[in-house]
Amino acid sequence: MKPAMRPERLNPLFAETGSLKGVGPQLARPLEKLGLTRVKDLAYHLPDRFVQRRAVENLDAASVGENILVALTPVEYRSSAGRGPFRIMAADAIGNVVALTYFGRNGGWARKQLPLGERRWIAGRLDQYGQMLQIVHPDHVSEEGGAALGQLCEPIYPLSEGLTQGRVAALVQQALSALIDLPEWIEPGLLGRMGWPDWKQALTLAHRDEHREARERLAYDELLANSLALMMVRNANRARTGLALQGDGRLRAKLALPFGLTGAQKRAIAEIEGDLAQAAPMLRLLQGDVGSGKTVVALEAMLIAVEAGAQAALLAPTEILARQHHETLQRMAAGTGVEIALLTGRDKGRARESILMGLLDGSIDMVVGTHAIFQDAVAYKNLAMVVIDEQHRFGVGQRLLLTQKGRRTPHCLAMTATPIPRTLTLAQYGEMDVSRLDEMPPGRQPIDTRVIAVERIADVVGALSRHLGGGEQAYWVCPMVRESESDDLAAAEARFAELKARFGDAVELVHGQLKPEAKDAAMERFVRGEAKLLVATTVIEVGVDVPAATLMIIEQADRFGLAQLHQLRGRVGRGSGKSVCLLLRGDALSETARERLALMRETQDGFRLAEEDLRLRGGGELLGTRQSGDTPFRIASLEQIQRLLPLAHDDARLLIERDGGLTGERGEAARLLLYLFERDWGVQLLRGG
Ligand code: ADP
Ligand code: MG
Repeated sequence: MKPAMRPERLNPLFAETGSLKGVGPQLARPLEKLGLTRVKDLAYHLPDRFVQRRAVENLDAASVGENILVALTPVEYRSSAGRGPFRIMAADAIGNVVALTYFGRNGGWARKQLPLGERRWIAGRLDQYGQMLQIVHPDHVSEEGGAALGQLCEPIYPLSEGLTQGRVAALVQQALSALIDLPEWIEPGLLGRMGWPDWKQALTLAHRDEHREARERLAYDELLANSLALMMVRNANRARTGLALQGDGRLRAKLALPFGLTGAQKRAIAEIEGDLAQAAPMLRLLQGDVGSGKTVVALEAMLIAVEAGAQAALLAPTEILARQHHETLQRMAAGTGVEIALLTGRDKGRARESILMGLLDGSIDMVVGTHAIFQDAVAYKNLAMVVIDEQHRFGVGQRLLLTQKGRRTPHCLAMTATPIPRTLTLAQYGEMDVSRLDEMPPGRQPIDTRVIAVERIADVVGALSRHLGGGEQAYWVCPMVRESESDDLAAAEARFAELKARFGDAVELVHGQLKPEAKDAAMERFVRGEAKLLVATTVIEVGVDVPAATLMIIEQADRFGLAQLHQLRGRVGRGSGKSVCLLLRGDALSETARERLALMRETQDGFRLAEEDLRLRGGGELLGTRQSGDTPFRIASLEQIQRLLPLAHDDARLLIERDGGLTGERGEAARLLLYLFERDWGVQLLRGG
């Protein structure tokens, strides 16, 4: 697909960070790790929090534990023997003495900054060490008070290895000075009512202090962009025509399922059948917890398409899942005579050619695969139905666009195991129709979940040993909250080495930084049962099905969110046997972490856990923490999403109803917004994408 042209006036914002002063290749990498590749990314790199300091005339006016700014004069250097810290004793205006304490090899540098007898402005946290007042590693040392006053409220930015606060702050300032004036896209009445600043001002203010209105406005912008784009997808979809698919039931009747469908499954299938019978393309989300039986619903839906003489495709996020789905579908549909092919990026040469032929001449009824099934070279005779599995792993909009190729728009069923709360459903999927599988197939045994202190890890390894000895498989999950965190990776590798030393070749390791082939190979050994223990970071979250794996151990479980723990735990308990999940916890647990782990023990209802997760994380956020993974937002916090999304949604709807082509003054402004938040796939649809 050709990218629509970005309006030229936005170019300064989309200039690479390399164009900024002082950014060489060395800085480019850590910036990239934070997703900061363009000027606008830096402008939107909002502080996690601010350090508030109080300027005091002398230490009598300050209290221990306080962040202060004070003028001090160094009076004595004290090196300690061995590996002790280096201290500079410094006096305030009335003779109180405080130790400026430096650990490590900072002595030389500290001396240079703090010559004896010369007054300096020191910013830092006042602590008490025994009888002595001290400031450990002052945050700033300035020669004159004027500069120091700028440090009274200091933004603290998210960093990656190789970056410092000072560096990031300076780059952000450069980015802010490159901001241009943009026309307003927020409805003027709303803007006035909320007391929000304009866009440029909001960005500037949000970096300066805890400016609630500024921060809100930026969050709202992001929510509005998302709502607009999703609504445009939805409208474009409604405006298209698909093929009304009326199945006669002859293939579905030949399905030999070893079980009866649950009520929820039957309901979902009926809803899908109703959609398919219309010419307007279906856009439906099938939401169902891990193990709730989405695959068979997908199969029935696809069979309806085939009964109606059309083709159906199932898109999986990974090769492994594609293969697993292919096997499952073939097994379930064995009696129907339906031809089901598997197509992944790995297929080359003759095999690939023959699949392509089959799709073109219609001898293949169904295809399962990765995004390879939508490449330009792949042409279908009559593709009328697309199922997208584990949708949350993709950008929703892009995926939907992919399905829009061809003369007719296929019906689309998106499936997700993430039981997100209703507000977030709206954020992720806009106004898609939703079917929920809120009933588990019968006979599932609850997963025995226990919380164990990490000190008892030897016992845990013992239990694991007995488990593996009994011929069963297990997962060992190490936290890797961000895939870029090198400490986490090192910890996972160390754990793997330890377990491998004990259990030998039966242990495999997978993490996000492995090459896809290596990851697939390791996973496959586990799926086939050759590997008995899979040590993994959160990459196993996505739908792998290994019924023989009945034990899961999650290290540092307190670091995971509830929803994520739930997703992970869903990997076990997939067979008929009893499954166990051991949550290892550290000893300094926050109240929230404690509550989270207790809830995990208490319930297995994904929807309930999702709502609780939102509640636990939504409260008490001062500035709002950047979201990763489970929401499509970088700026808006969970609390802001809940509060502002309905507004943004209504606003987007009004705008589109009045000016669907986004050609009026506000419409043009809204287009800029879509580019800013990289929802320009919405704009592409306007051009008939
Ligand atoms: P998910 O929703 O996680 O994709 P699957 O479709 O993989 O779940 O189903 C999980 C397991 O449950 C599979 O082994 C499947 O065969 C089985 N299953 C699905 N529906 C039923 C049912 N109605 N009764 C019993 N077992 C079922
Ligand atoms: Mg599945």
